[in-house]
Amino acid sequence: MADVTVRRVDFGYFVRPAQETGTGGPRVEPCLGYVIGHPQGMILFDTGMGSRPEVDAHYRPRRVGVREALAAIGAQVSDIGLAANCHLHFDHCGGNQLLGQIPVFVQGIELDTARQTPDYTLPELIEGSRFERAEGEVEVLPGVFLMPTPGHTDGHQSLVVRQRDGAVIVAGQSHDTATQYAADQLAWRARRDGHDQPLPDIPTWVDALQRLDPRVVYFAGLTAPVRPPDPAAGTPRRARGRSTRRG
Ligand SMILES: [Zn+2]
Repeated sequence: MADVTVRRVDFGYFVRPAQETGTGGPRVEPCLGYVIGHPQGMILFDTGMGSRPEVDAHYRPRRVGVREALAAIGAQVSDIGLAANCHLHFDHCGGNQLLGQIPVFVQGIELDTARQTPDYTLPELIEGSRFERAEGEVEVLPGVFLMPTPGHTDGHQSLVVRQRDGAVIVAGQSHDTATQYAADQLAWRARRDGHDQPLPDIPTWVDALQRLDPRVVYFAGLTAPVRPPDPAAGTPRRARGRSTRRG
């Protein structure tokens, strides 16, 4: 899978108001998707922010549409072979309608929740898409998997590119900060080491994810990817001479 690349797609940003940040002040947050280049087709993971007057008044987004965001990386909608949403809140599926009949993979439970729960998302964003229900882990192209990573929502999923020297993870909103990711990763390591309880609770899927040996993890809300240290050596992979190719 050496030919698989991951590129960031910039859908703009929004301003989370002070009452939602817990810091006493507003915070500007990015809205990122990712394009996975694969010999058998291009995958778009997340499609940006939807729009409604009351939502825009609340979050004051600076929105970049799918066409413009793809053009910025030299791609266009017709290049996309399939798509996926990490979940169906309005800031992850805003451009789905522009994808036409391109199949869009979401976890079945996420699709049901979005269709049945009032105010879960902007309903028009999930109308007209050719959704493909993923029930658990699904290999969408050779070496590229969708994997349930619930927490932010019950049907949240991440995308995993399995490679010979570890995995590249496109983790959507499984964690909001690198600090949260590192905390779960370290709690998993302590459990693996048989460290004395009590230890922090972590989502059950963290074990499956860590066993894939993540070497780079991309998030929807973090402009820089996380490069976990190798738990076996405690040193960054780069220092051990492994490939850092990632596209
Ligand atoms: Zn969300």
